[in-house]
Amino acid sequence: MQAIMKTKPGVGLELGETQNLTPGPRDVLVRVKKTGICGTDRHIYEWDAWAIGRIKPPLVAGHEFVGIVEDTGVAVQSVRPGDRVSGEGHIGCGRCYCCRTGQSHICDHVDIIGVDIQGCFAPYVVLPESNIWKVDENIPDDQACLFDPFGNAMHTVMAQPISGKQILVMGCGTIGLMAIGIAHAGGADKIIAVDPNPIKREYAVKMGADVVLKQACKEEIRDLTDREGVDVLLEMSGNAKAMVEGFRCVRNGGQISSLGIPSGDISIPWASEVIFKGVTIHGINGRRMFDTWYQCESFLRRHPQLIEPLITHRLSFDRFEEGIRAMQSGDACKVVLDWEDAR
Ligand SMILES: [Zn+2]
Ligand SMILES: [Zn+2]
Repeated sequence: MQAIMKTKPGVGLELGETQNLTPGPRDVLVRVKKTGICGTDRHIYEWDAWAIGRIKPPLVAGHEFVGIVEDTGVAVQSVRPGDRVSGEGHIGCGRCYCCRTGQSHICDHVDIIGVDIQGCFAPYVVLPESNIWKVDENIPDDQACLFDPFGNAMHTVMAQPISGKQILVMGCGTIGLMAIGIAHAGGADKIIAVDPNPIKREYAVKMGADVVLKQACKEEIRDLTDREGVDVLLEMSGNAKAMVEGFRCVRNGGQISSLGIPSGDISIPWASEVIFKGVTIHGINGRRMFDTWYQCESFLRRHPQLIEPLITHRLSFDRFEEGIRAMQSGDACKVVLDWEDAR
């Protein structure tokens, strides 16, 4: 079958031939309908330092999808051919301490589809039954294929109470924008969003930000809150300077959820910004299985506009390169690929 692949080390992705898949006894074979292009796919395309260290070609890329169950292994009980499903792309080992205590999102031996094992940028993808998510019929395909990034945003927001809280969102990429929508729908008192890009700031307003700023500074943020700083910082930028500034804007006793990945080590004034302020910091990796998925589904049932405005490009799978270019230029928020014509 034809798939979007990294066939050899180097920049780019191409349409290549990969083997047909047969599900193992506990696996589900999914006929892919729609996929989302993620920042991760862009890293793989651009063949940056992370990709060089992690990706072993040949590899089918992609981890954000929705599709229809085509076939199941003999031991599978929860889904049947014809069911519409998405799936958690992080496959924990199931044996380590984290996996056995409900924390498989931080399993050290995780296999990620489209990163470590065959991904979903293909007409078919295989996942263990335990990673399959049956999608509510009220959630359209375009949104159902984006549970993965939406779940990142949900996990970041839900790591602490947000109802009635004053929140600073640093970085308005797609996941930051989703986080603004979730915090708004979840009853935040005030949302201050920061991004240097004016287009992203416009999206931030659309998603429910009360105030948008080019950059954050402690004095201005204090003036915008009535609590000597924000209750909650959602750190989505991964930018070293923005991260330090963000920490400075949090009130004493506040909470920080950190999702954006900095390219190197960062330097935070630990005594003044963490210890003496008594802040709590949550590192956010992936989605909690499956608490986050249940939260995503219930939010999307009630608030269908949390994803829709962010889908800027809908393309046939063979035009994926256009999508990646739109992401590189900053024109795109979310690019969705259609696989109906792939078979
Ligand atoms: Zn993703
Ligand atoms: Zn594990």
